[in-house]
Amino acid sequence: MNTSGSTKSLAPIRSRVDAVQTVLERNGLDTDSFIDTFNDLAVEQWLPRNGARLIARAWVNEEFKELLLQDGIAAAKSMGFNFPAHHRYFVVLENSEKVHNVICCTLCSCTAFSIIGLPPDWYKDLEYRARVVRESRTVLQEMGLDLPKETEIKVWDTTTDTRYMVMPQRPPNTMGWSEEKLSNLVTKEAMIGVAVL
Ligand code: FE
Repeated sequence: MNTSGSTKSLAPIRSRVDAVQTVLERNGLDTDSFIDTFNDLAVEQWLPRNGARLIARAWVNEEFKELLLQDGIAAAKSMGFNFPAHHRYFVVLENSEKVHNVICCTLCSCTAFSIIGLPPDWYKDLEYRARVVRESRTVLQEMGLDLPKETEIKVWDTTTDTRYMVMPQRPPNTMGWSEEKLSNLVTKEAMIGVAVL
């Protein structure tokens, strides 16, 4: 987008990427290895499976659930998960019969990506970001989640330093299931709050 008001056209994207890369490398930053490392983290380590394991443990272990709700970072670290330094707070939002939580990032696309995975494309869409805060019930319905009228919907707007994860209600008829088996039920959509289990 040209915000200067002039009609001068931009250089092609490839030349602009090359220019940025040249400056970064001139300043001692190795862009190729950064991209490899980032890809490895995104594909191998930042998986929704991490959040699913936290939630399954909270369902079966009341003490762990209290820790998870009070200090998400400490709970996640106790299971070996990590956060980038700028994720200073990891806040877990517990769903109940009365309250359903849903998260968004009105500014861009922030998530607790090391725990719930990178955001889906629709999460980054202006339409989701703008509408979920104003007409959350309708947006959830459009996404296939029709909540009872009595259920209050709370929308949480992610910031750079505060990341959220929704803890869905444990599905009925799962008494006695192992933590492992329970964790297989938890989806990224449920941890964002646009689906239930
Ligand atoms: Fe964002």
